[in-house]
Amino acid sequence: MKFCPECASPVSLSIPAGDNRPRYVCTSSSCATIHYQNPKMVLGSIPVWERDGQLQVLLCKRAIEPRYGYWTLPAGFMENNETTGEAALRETQEEAGANIKLGKLFTLLNVARVHQVHMFYLAELLDLDFAPGEESLEVKMFTEQEIPWDDLAFPTIRTTLELFFADRVNIREGGSYGFHTQDIIRNMRSDLDPT
Ligand SMILES: [Zn+2]
Repeated sequence: MKFCPECASPVSLSIPAGDNRPRYVCTSSSCATIHYQNPKMVLGSIPVWERDGQLQVLLCKRAIEPRYGYWTLPAGFMENNETTGEAALRETQEEAGANIKLGKLFTLLNVARVHQVHMFYLAELLDLDFAPGEESLEVKMFTEQEIPWDDLAFPTIRTTLELFFADRVNIREGGSYGFHTQDIIRNMRSDLDPT
């Protein structure tokens, strides 16, 4: 940040009285607004279609940077005035044109290094009437064997899919889906912007 969004004066990085971290503070004495910066929430879903014991997961091929051409679960930044579930539904509709029924929250992944928290909901596809949105080149269903592990866009996508298929093994043995939290520390530049 270089200029104050309130009054357009330059900002300086300093620790306000009573605080313990550097903040962007407006240098205009009549404004002096402190601009706090906090982590962003990224919401997505794991849309699946299951018939005759065959399970497929919907992935989107990114039509935008970063990670253009790599595969992702539908996900993006949460907007103001929406809930986490609404954000996951909206992103799935926008990126994949997919109609889903949301299930339980499945992963909560801290990507502290890039100031983000990623969350993915379990989801059932209601039909196969999907189509790529503006941010996707292609939308496709994958069985576990077909998942393009080497061409996934972000570490949180890989982690979520790994946990998902691990839970599928437990489910075959009578278990159920868990709720998983992890801190992602892998040093990949590509998790900078997972929209
Ligand atoms: Zn200002």
